[in-house]
Amino acid sequence: MSQHTPLRALEHHDAFIERHIGPNEAEIAHMLGVVGYDSLEAMTDAIVPASIKSPAPLALPEALSEEEALARIRAIADRNQVLRSFIGQGYYGTHTPKVILRNILENPAWYTAYTPYQAEISQGRMEALINFQTMIADLTGMEIANASLLDEATAAAEAMTLAKRSARSKSDVFFVHDAVHPQTLEVLRTRAEPMGIVLRVGTPEEALEADSFGVLLQYPDTFGHVGDHKALAEAVHARGGLVAVATDLLALTLIAAPGEWGADIVVGNSQRFGVPFGFGGPHAAFMACRDAFKRSMPGRLIGVSIDAAGNPAYRLTLQTREQHIRREKATSNICTAQVLLAVMASMYAVYHGPEGLTRIARRTHRLAAVLAAALRRAGVAVAGGFFDTLHVTGIDAATLHEKARVAGINLRHIDATSLGISLDETSTREDVTALAGLFGARIDNLDALDLDTPDALPANLRRTSAFLQHPVFNTHHSEHELLRYMRALADKDLAMDRTMIPLGSCTMKLNATAEMIPVTWPQFAGIHPLAPAAQAQGYRELIDGLEAMLVECTGYDAVSLQPNSGAQGEYAGLLAIRAYHRARGEGHRDICLIPDSAHGTNPASAQMCGMTVVVTKTDGNGNVDVEDIRRNAEKYGDRLAAIMMTYPSTHGVFEEEVVEICEIIHRHGGQVYTDGANMNALVGVAKPGKWGSDVSHLNLHKTFCIPHGGGGPGVGPCAVKAHLAPFLPRALGEHGVRTQGVGEGEVGMVSAATFGSASILPISWMYITLMGAAGLRRATQVALLNANYIARRLAPHFDTLYTGRNGLVAHECILDLRPIKDATGISAEDVAKRLIDFGFHAPTLSFPVAGTLMVEPTESESLHELDRFIDAMIQIRDEIRAIEDGRLDREDNPLKHAPHTAVQVSAGEWTHAYPRELAAFPLPSLKQQKYWPPVARVDNVHGDKNVFCSCIPVEAFAGDAEAVGEANAT
Ligand SMILES: *Cc1c(COP(=O)(O)O)cnc(C)c1O
Repeated sequence: MSQHTPLRALEHHDAFIERHIGPNEAEIAHMLGVVGYDSLEAMTDAIVPASIKSPAPLALPEALSEEEALARIRAIADRNQVLRSFIGQGYYGTHTPKVILRNILENPAWYTAYTPYQAEISQGRMEALINFQTMIADLTGMEIANASLLDEATAAAEAMTLAKRSARSKSDVFFVHDAVHPQTLEVLRTRAEPMGIVLRVGTPEEALEADSFGVLLQYPDTFGHVGDHKALAEAVHARGGLVAVATDLLALTLIAAPGEWGADIVVGNSQRFGVPFGFGGPHAAFMACRDAFKRSMPGRLIGVSIDAAGNPAYRLTLQTREQHIRREKATSNICTAQVLLAVMASMYAVYHGPEGLTRIARRTHRLAAVLAAALRRAGVAVAGGFFDTLHVTGIDAATLHEKARVAGINLRHIDATSLGISLDETSTREDVTALAGLFGARIDNLDALDLDTPDALPANLRRTSAFLQHPVFNTHHSEHELLRYMRALADKDLAMDRTMIPLGSCTMKLNATAEMIPVTWPQFAGIHPLAPAAQAQGYRELIDGLEAMLVECTGYDAVSLQPNSGAQGEYAGLLAIRAYHRARGEGHRDICLIPDSAHGTNPASAQMCGMTVVVTKTDGNGNVDVEDIRRNAEKYGDRLAAIMMTYPSTHGVFEEEVVEICEIIHRHGGQVYTDGANMNALVGVAKPGKWGSDVSHLNLHKTFCIPHGGGGPGVGPCAVKAHLAPFLPRALGEHGVRTQGVGEGEVGMVSAATFGSASILPISWMYITLMGAAGLRRATQVALLNANYIARRLAPHFDTLYTGRNGLVAHECILDLRPIKDATGISAEDVAKRLIDFGFHAPTLSFPVAGTLMVEPTESESLHELDRFIDAMIQIRDEIRAIEDGRLDREDNPLKHAPHTAVQVSAGEWTHAYPRELAAFPLPSLKQQKYWPPVARVDNVHGDKNVFCSCIPVEAFAGDAEAVGEANAT
């Protein structure tokens, strides 16, 4: 017999699993030794309660190699058919500048970043976001804008609730323009009803007469018409109502800004600023409003503050509005938004500048005007007063759609005798000629027709005001300049391309390159969300396949991929529970029990569903208090709607009594909502749908490898047992036409697009396909191991607040800094900021317990990286000991002054009571590789007192931090 290694043994199908999981076999054995177990199975048995453990492995195929998986998804992508789409309805063709495509969308320095809670290591992305806010405020003519919302339809719903909170009028009616995009109306209907808001839909003329707390107008409207709403705005204001406007950024370069004619709130979608269709998402929506409403505004807001050295520095401002602080009293449940896409859109504006954008808008308008002229010459009726969208009437729509399809063209379906055509940046002269040809109109000489055709914009609504005057929009127009600007911003930040991000609850695991590659394929990126189903067969297969995989991983029966964030998934799940109760004649059930350890989105989402939140206690070991739940379930009896609990809990333990809790809730007629953000501790080990839970959301941007993008995009699928399946969110009607009202007991749309952020679903599909059943289970086990290894190694230095069975934690551990604070004055925040000097992103700070740090290493971190983190934490503990012993001063020490900038450390004068070297290089290894934060510790109080949310005036960088305050005062 020959001695060679057989082929089978050389075919390394599990190769990806070993790349995804950080520690290798030997390292796993070593770490198991530290934790005290001789196998992953033994350790898993010691952590996970037997009552919930899955009896059988996941029924998923075996792992594929990267090449095999890419070939498989390529075949799926090829089943999509990319036609030229002129459908519009909120989604337009755009050219992503290649320099942005490669250096933002395809660059892990941008896509693997976390939400900028740690201001000092997030200055680059916050500058990009403040550019976004400035761009939105300028173009809409408003005073302040946020750093993105999920989509235009949900942004309109947020505008409705902002108006409800802020208007003087006490009316319950919200008036909606009958020419808003159909998907916007759908989402408004879903949102309004549980909050007791009455929607009235009609013409702007009818709005003049209606008593309402607010009006939503679309400008230009969904059929393309640019209406003059000044008189209406005045009438609404006179009645104490507010005016919300959904608009189009490109159009606003040519038409009067809503802020100039009376809008109080402006929303829209920045998609056409360089972000592809992607079958509906992700794209960054926006909201701008009058300054007076800034404390009521939903979503993240970047503001300017100062750092410890008095220099301007960015930070998240007015966080007291947000759910992680205000719980059910928050302005919204928005957590993950659309940061990466907002960054792309802002860079598109930086790249083109005000003149470039105006040129693109003019060209688009001219193409539309020429097409309209050609059609009219051929006797086709086209409405006037448009920007880029033609409303063609009096035609046989079915025949035209058929002709168009043959020519490789999609038009917007409106009804049997009319249709829509939207031109965009990508439209060409050839397109216009081809479009005209469909209607029997010939264009022999397009230039001659162009010369003969006046603009079609209403003369009284031309834009005369300047916009994007800040230098940032007027300097980086060559590719070199933009490339270097984006690189300079990325270099200011810490993302996962430089360090682990050990955030509890947020599962910052590997986002593998092979998973990312299909996202930008034109077969996925180039499909309009309202393209006919026949052209989206690949998406259908991808979506069906992913839904089935998630059903198998969770033990539920059905999944909706529509929610485009975890919080949206919560909302969808609670709406399903609500509709279920109502369908059974138990619509009076309105109490939602939520343990006090819950994530802030839970109570915020419950409130949006009209539920009343009752907070339940936690016992001394961090477990939800079963007796308190029992008491409350009994107390509220037939008012009990649901419990929302996170499992394993945000305290990092597997509660033993979860099955019993489900039984208690069910016995009292309630439903069990399990927040699935911690699924990374469960996949392949236990299934919530099998232990008694009725519904969960998952965070594909945590457990299933979609990158965090600096605060979005995300996907928050809602997974339910069969009895709730009829109450999952509805799809938009065929052809994107409004469904004829949602039936009694049904749940409408929760996002603008039927499949939410469809174009990033390939990432999760690839992950599951690459890992297979065994790989997914092993990933979970190593996630548990890594967390326990850190807890065990740090035990002599820091207390772990809660442990479960056998003194073990789940996939994360909470380090308790409160005793240290009492003894030395050093806070968890000081430790978080000191970690920056070591080049680390801090763990989660003060959630779910104030004064603690929550660490979740994930399975993707290698032993080397874990040890590097542990070494840094031990060195920090030694510094704290030095304070305890009096070797370091209680006030003037490297923790209190962290982080240290290069400017500070290299300054001529050094006034601190500790050496410079300790400040900058507390460990020798840092001399090989050192991250320098661009700013010193950022002053939070200053930022909230002096709210300033646009680009910093240039003078401020010349050392005049007062310039921010002055600009603010003006
Ligand atoms: C992240 C998270 C959420 C919210 O998810 P988003 O996608 O940010 O909306 C909800 N619950 C828990 C426990 C989480 O960790």
